[in-house]
Amino acid sequence: MKYVVSLLFLSLTAASPAVAAGPIKIVAAENFYGDVARQIGGDAVEVVSILNNPDQDPHLFEASPSVARAISDARIVIANGVDYDPWIGTLLSASPSSARKLIVVGDLAGKKTGDNPHLWYDPRNVLAMARQLSSVLAEEDAANISVYARRLADFEASLQPVSDRIAEVRGHYAGTPVAATEPVFGYMFDALGLEVKETSFQNSVMNDTEPSASDVAAFENDLKTHKIKLLVYNSQATDPAAERLKSLAEQAGIPVVGATETQPDGKSYQSWMMSGVAEVGKAFGMPTQ
Ligand SMILES: [Zn+2]
Repeated sequence: MKYVVSLLFLSLTAASPAVAAGPIKIVAAENFYGDVARQIGGDAVEVVSILNNPDQDPHLFEASPSVARAISDARIVIANGVDYDPWIGTLLSASPSSARKLIVVGDLAGKKTGDNPHLWYDPRNVLAMARQLSSVLAEEDAANISVYARRLADFEASLQPVSDRIAEVRGHYAGTPVAATEPVFGYMFDALGLEVKETSFQNSVMNDTEPSASDVAAFENDLKTHKIKLLVYNSQATDPAAERLKSLAEQAGIPVVGATETQPDGKSYQSWMMSGVAEVGKAFGMPTQ
């Protein structure tokens, strides 16, 4: 009898620490937030990123049952918000949990529906997400509070070269007129101090409305007459109007830089941002370092 009791006791004591010691499950709606979550959480977390295919248009994403399961199992969910990933809210309310923590980057950035949702093209927004995640992890796993604080400091330090490069491009080219086929790169344009033209066209595309004929004509004319010095082309969410602008820019000898919505394979968030800034600098003729 004593033997049975001690076995029972053993299995109970073994079970509870095993639950606490399991990885903290994080679901990131977008893979760049998932990458940063891995950088901050390290071995203590298990991260699933939902939007991770740079060949698919995230604006047209529909969640599958496996996505719903991942979200219902998650302890922490990271969403962009600003109506970029509205399916997250639907899935969260389908499986309510008071224990689950939700981080919405749009809220941290003070943005609302109707604002440009491509928040990750401003590294300060991603740093705000990393800070929030680090404090949520410290609450969930207090024993490792100093580990999360150190990883956050490392992450912040790793963004410094990106900020330095942004400042360098800005120093040389602030005020240069540029345009894009869609506002994916908008926050980076702002960080670089560039003058963004054709915003009415871009807002129509973002809001899924047809750009007006006069907006299209003005855009085409500005390309033909070199009023725009760089065209950023969203290579992930394409349509015939954007393709036409891209080929007009190429014919006019205006540099075209591709931008994606989703972090490409083989890149970290930091290296992805760095290569975007470097490509803009290169397009303007800034010597590469
Ligand atoms: Zn987009």
